[in-house]
This record gives sequence, C-alpha cells and structure tokens, in this order.
Amino acid sequence: MSKNVFVFAEQRDGEIQKVSFELIGKARELANTLGEKVVAILLGHKVEGQAERLVAYGADEVILVDDKMLAEYVTEPYAKAIAAVIHEFDPEIVLYGATAIGRDLAPRVSARIHTGLTADCTGLAIDPETKNLLMTRPAFGGNIMATIVCPDFRPQMATVRPGVMQSCPMDTKVKGKVTKFTVPFAAEDMNVKIRKVVKAAKKATDITECKILISGGRGIGKADKFEMLKDLADVLGGEISSSRANVDAGWIGKERQVGQTGKTVRPNLYLACGISGAIQHLAGMEGSDLIIAINKNNTAPIFDVADVGIVGDVNVVVPKLTEAIKKYTE
Ligand code: FAD
Repeated sequence: MSKNVFVFAEQRDGEIQKVSFELIGKARELANTLGEKVVAILLGHKVEGQAERLVAYGADEVILVDDKMLAEYVTEPYAKAIAAVIHEFDPEIVLYGATAIGRDLAPRVSARIHTGLTADCTGLAIDPETKNLLMTRPAFGGNIMATIVCPDFRPQMATVRPGVMQSCPMDTKVKGKVTKFTVPFAAEDMNVKIRKVVKAAKKATDITECKILISGGRGIGKADKFEMLKDLADVLGGEISSSRANVDAGWIGKERQVGQTGKTVRPNLYLACGISGAIQHLAGMEGSDLIIAINKNNTAPIFDVADVGIVGDVNVVVPKLTEAIKKYTE
C-alpha cells in the first residue's frame, strides 16, 4: 500500500536548495496528519554528507542514490532514478520544488509512472474524510484558486513554488535513517553530453532570501523613484522589490517582482510604497513578518494586511524615513 510523504531534495553543486527544506517542513505537517513518515530523495554524486542536513530539517529517512550519472542534473537519468525509487518504495505523496529542475523533472516522472501532477501549488492539505492530498493553485489567469485531487493514482504529486512553505527549525540532535539505493543505469541513459558548465558571472539578487524589502508600486510615479527606495533600503540593509505594474512598465527587472506571477517573499520587514494591494500582489508577500504600507489612499486594500499603515505621499514619507533612520544609526 502506498505510504509516506516523499520530497525530492534538490541539490546544486552538492548544496541542498532552500526550497527542499521548505517542502520538508510542509511534508512534516502532512505526514503527521496521515500518521506517516517524511522521506527525502537525495540524488547526486558524492552528496552523502548532505543527508544529515535533510534529517536536521525534519526528514525521518533519506533515500540516497549516489552515482556518477547523477553528478550534474540531466533529465533522463534523474527521471529514471526517481521513477525507480517510486516503484521500489511506493510513496503516497511526492513533492518537488517548482524550480527550473523541478519543473523539468516532475512532469517526466509523472508520465513515466502514470500518475497526475499539479504544478505550482500554493497550498497543500489532507482531506480529513478521504485522506487525499488537496492541492491548491491559482487557475484561469489567477482569477480563481482551484483545489485539485488525484484520487485514483498514486503517488499524488505536486510542485510547489519556492518561498511559499515554511521550513521547520533546524535540529542537529535528531537522528534519521539513510537508505542507499542503487539504480541500474546503462550508458544510453545519458543522452546528453555536458561539454562545459558556464555559471552566470554575477549572482542576481534573490529577493526571496532578503530580510528587508522596500517594494515600489505604480504610486512611486516614475522609474527613477526606485533610487529613493534604494536609499532607504541601503540604510536598512535591505533590497528593493516591486509590484508587477512597474515590471510591466519596464522600470525594474522581472526578478524583483513580488506576487503570483513573480516571487513569493517572507521577509522580516516588507515596506509597500505606493502599492494598492491587489490580490495577486498579496499572494506573494502576505506571509511577511511585519508589513508597513505607505499609500495616499486610506482605503487601499494593502492596509487590510498591513501591521502599520502610513497614509501619505511616498515622495514625502520615504525621504523623511531615510533621513530619520540615518540620524538614528549614525
Ligand atoms: P496600482 O494598483 O495602480 O496602485 C498604485 C497605488 O499607489 C494606489 O493604491 C494609489 O493610491 C497609490 N499611490 C499613487 N500615488 C501615490 C503617492 N504619491 N504616494 C503614495 N501612494 C500613492 N501584480 C503583482 O504585483 N504581482 C504579481 O505577481 C501579479 N500577477 C498577476 C497575475 C495575473 C493573472 C493578473 C491578472 C494580475 C497580476 N498582477 C500582479 C497585477 C495586479 O492585479 C495589479 O494590477 C498590480 O499589483 C497593481 O500594481 P500597483 O499596486 O503597483 O499599482
């Protein structure tokens, strides 16, 4: 019988990606509800040392497939390895990060093992009656939230966007089991030859990792007003982000967009400047610890989620805030 909640533990250059810890956090909650275990699947070459980190973040067991064929991510051997693990261990649920790798791998696996896959989920829960996984994601252009079930096939599989789920605190004292599993690879499983790996010269700022975000909406008025927000971000040790309106206007890069079609962020402080608070924007930031909103319209929906609201003109409030904080920190 299918059992346990599995998480594909994505690693790059031997480093487990943050989304995998977030998924283990969610898997822990689902597994507790089902009375089952959390199992991480770790694929790679010489990655055994990473298994204990997965346990520290909440996995009861790690299934390790260590093979030269898995040294770099290539779709075919990775899909073969995951399918083999699923055939052998028969999981109830398998979760993947909705990253470039997860989005490539999960559909391949789902076709190979004949089960469903719900992509880009923002919510996961267990139906109390049927015990099926309820997989929620935006649908029809974000106008509705659809909850999808996979009642007839196992495992139930979903990809989840980075930043949506919360990881459990790390506990290095807990012990877990590491099970080594061998996949019988053949030379023809490697259908791609990697000649050279070229890394991006400069690592772009990842707003999902930032503790303080100063976010600008259409209300800032023009592109160069991001400089004003940058000054405030600098004195606070934060970064700038944006609503989609300004990304669409070409004022700032897409990698800084917060929201349903941008990134999901969870900083300690999210300062929304001239952002109305459309549902698609809120979807990406309402999990922030402290939300401060500056808006000249006191009925703007952003104030419904803000912990602190400032009714005023961003062009007046932001420079004053920057000056005050500068003085305070000097
Ligand atoms: P507006 O809604 O135009 O709001 C500007 C605000 O600034 C207003 O509240 C106004 O009162 C205030 N203001 C104006 N001047 C000043 C001033 N001088 N001082 C203070 N306040 C001022 N949006 C996202 O952000 N992220 C997404 O990922 C996203 N995905 C989407 C996906 C779909 C399928 C769809 C349909 C929409 C999506 N949107 C997304 C767009 C979203 O619906 C809104 O259109 C967008 O968030 C609005 O951006 P905004 O708040 O900056 O602009």
